[in-house]
Amino acid sequence: MNELRLPLRCKRCKEVLAYGFERVLLDVESKDPYGDPAFVGEIVCKACGTEGELEPTPDAGRILTSHMMEFLNAARGGRTIARPKVMPAETQLRGKRVGFADGASASSIRRSRSRRAPSVPASTEAGCGSS
Ligand SMILES: [Zn+2]
Repeated sequence: MNELRLPLRCKRCKEVLAYGFERVLLDVESKDPYGDPAFVGEIVCKACGTEGELEPTPDAGRILTSHMMEFLNAARGGRTIARPKVMPAETQLRGKRVGFADGASASSIRRSRSRRAPSVPASTEAGCGSS
């Protein structure tokens, strides 16, 4: 699996275990030392089963920071990382600054719209063009 593995500590049972996430969103303007990370994926403690009580360890903070720098350096250089593991929670969407939740719903709306768009030629269903 292509996932970001982070050591996280459970606030309930204090157990530090590695968790894999598809993506982590950071609030770059947050006062939180780790950028108030929002984990995309299941955040249930593997030890005690408590949900949403995992916090980043200093090691996780370092991993998040290095990924974030990579993302920002790429953006600054005019490049884009195809599937960034760590990205700012606020993102540019069609020229408008939006929060992640808004961006996610907007893009899913756009996706479902294009799926049943009448302008899509029927020939694409035949499987041509899938490189
Ligand atoms: Zn726990």
